[in-house]
Amino acid sequence: MNELQYQVDLLSAMNRKLEDECSIYRLMLDSSSDAYLYYDFAEDRYSTMGDWKGFFEIEIRDRNDVARLFSQVREEDIEAFRSLVYLEKTGKRTELLEFCKKGGKQWIECKGTVIFDEAGGPSKKLLKFRDITKFKKQNDYLSYLAYYDSLTGLLNRNSFMKNLIEWIERAGREGTMVSLAFVDINDFRKINDGIGMLVGDELLQRFGKFLQSLCEGDSMMCAHLNADVFCLAIYDPVGDRAMRSIYQRILERLTKPFELMSGPVFITLSVGVAEYPEAASTAFELLERAEIVMFRAKHTKQNGIRYFDAPIIQSFLHNAALEQKLKSAALDREFMLYYQPQYAAQGGRLRGVEALIRWRDSEGQMISPGEFIPIAEKSSIIVNIGVWVAQKAVSTLAEWKKKYGVDLTMSINVSAVHFSQDGFAHWIIDLIKGYGLPLDEVELEITETVLIDDFLHILKKLELLQQYGIKLAIDDFGTGYASLAYLKNLPVDTIKIDKTFIDSMLVDKEGDIIVEGILDMVNRLGYDSVAEGVETQEQLDHLREIGCKYIQGYLLGRPVPQEQLEELLEGRIWE
Ligand code: C2E
Ligand code: CA
Ligand code: CA
Repeated sequence: MNELQYQVDLLSAMNRKLEDECSIYRLMLDSSSDAYLYYDFAEDRYSTMGDWKGFFEIEIRDRNDVARLFSQVREEDIEAFRSLVYLEKTGKRTELLEFCKKGGKQWIECKGTVIFDEAGGPSKKLLKFRDITKFKKQNDYLSYLAYYDSLTGLLNRNSFMKNLIEWIERAGREGTMVSLAFVDINDFRKINDGIGMLVGDELLQRFGKFLQSLCEGDSMMCAHLNADVFCLAIYDPVGDRAMRSIYQRILERLTKPFELMSGPVFITLSVGVAEYPEAASTAFELLERAEIVMFRAKHTKQNGIRYFDAPIIQSFLHNAALEQKLKSAALDREFMLYYQPQYAAQGGRLRGVEALIRWRDSEGQMISPGEFIPIAEKSSIIVNIGVWVAQKAVSTLAEWKKKYGVDLTMSINVSAVHFSQDGFAHWIIDLIKGYGLPLDEVELEITETVLIDDFLHILKKLELLQQYGIKLAIDDFGTGYASLAYLKNLPVDTIKIDKTFIDSMLVDKEGDIIVEGILDMVNRLGYDSVAEGVETQEQLDHLREIGCKYIQGYLLGRPVPQEQLEELLEGRIWE
């Protein structure tokens, strides 16, 4: 009796436990965001679980209802869905299907599982539906981003290069050409700053779309490499598909503005073209060379196009080697300062000297400042050089003062990059004071390019330097954009008239009028005038006549090393 009671209790306890578990599973399924379709083979019965109602409007009671589900599946996916619904042998299977789910088309991952009975026949089947639309969209977007630029929809750098590599391999086999154009929008930063980044983006999109419209067929492609840089490539260019005629079409388009949110915007381009196999043997080399050529095109002002030729690359390689050499140059050993005298046009008093740098590299070769200063200006090397020059020039002036008791002006060339650095003014003031020199015995020569960047900031710096008494000269006057009218607002002391004007002065009437005009204005504003590069007595005479105050040039003295200038100071040569 007890034994029987025990068995009954045990069974009902097990039953309760099973019921509990069952309701836990049901709860789990029903709160799941997936939908389930369950089929019992023995009873031929269907039931649904989970979020079925969130997925489908069709209620499943029997086979016919299941058949109706097929109308929800995309045509191409019907076979795959059939293999899941009638899954009986394979046991397990997963398919990705596009369904017309409630609320539109969705991507559904559908997993089918069959359980077999002891005899090996199918006994139960479960289909699980999971909505993976969001994931698939993200995934598609990621793979899209791997190939395309998100802003313009054009090819990105990676896929462009991948295609270019393939084209070049093919051209190598077939003995054909690949033409590559590196396209850069001029002054894009200024445009961007002017109209705002969003409109800047709109411009890039519109321009990109236009370039894309030129790419007919699969033997042309274009890409957005970064910021304002685009690339066009043509496989086997001929006739009106040659880069030259494509460029003509681009130029035609640029005669009209791009109509943007902010209004019409005109752009100009710099384009560099390099072609395989002439210019390079690999895709990366070709891109690099087209870019170098593009930089050359930039010098030729608006809408410049340049084609690769050997001298361009040679000069590029030469400059690159020079930059390398400059970086490792030992300033104290390889650099020297030469000094060129400046004299009063009337009376011939020595006004002072201009310090001019000289470089004898480690192999003993002289390299002209006209060649290496522009390269140094592209990097921070120019600041090291500028610091060295100023220290050397100021210490030499102090030395001369002690030795000869002279009152001279030491003119030092200051590069725009160095001048624009924070703290430059106080640094140079401290340097001169450190040698106990009067501040007005040093003159800083700056070019008009200094004034282009952040004018108000530079103006403040000039004013500060002038307050302390340091002299300021505008070098190469007339070659930049500074006009005479502009001059009167500048806190400067001296105007150096560029050699090109002095050269043309006696050659033609216009040249003469310009120099007279400059001198007239400069004198009336009370600035000092220095004529540069005076080589002949006639030039000197004429400059005296038209009121130039100081003269510098080979006629009166070339730039010479310190010792030679000291001979002059001792009065042995000049007086
Ligand atoms: P710049 O400042 O215009 O210097 C005048 C240049 O004209 C110097 O060339 C000088 O030697 C040359 N010159 C002077 N008189 C005559 C003449 O009668 N006939 C001819 N044909 N040339 C004359 P240099 O020394 O080769 O310097 C070239 C440029 O390099 C300078 O032009 C200046 O822009 C830059 N530079 C030279 N030294 C320095 C320096 O220490 N720092 C910086 N930042 N630039 C420097
Ligand atoms: Ca100068
Ligand atoms: Ca000059």
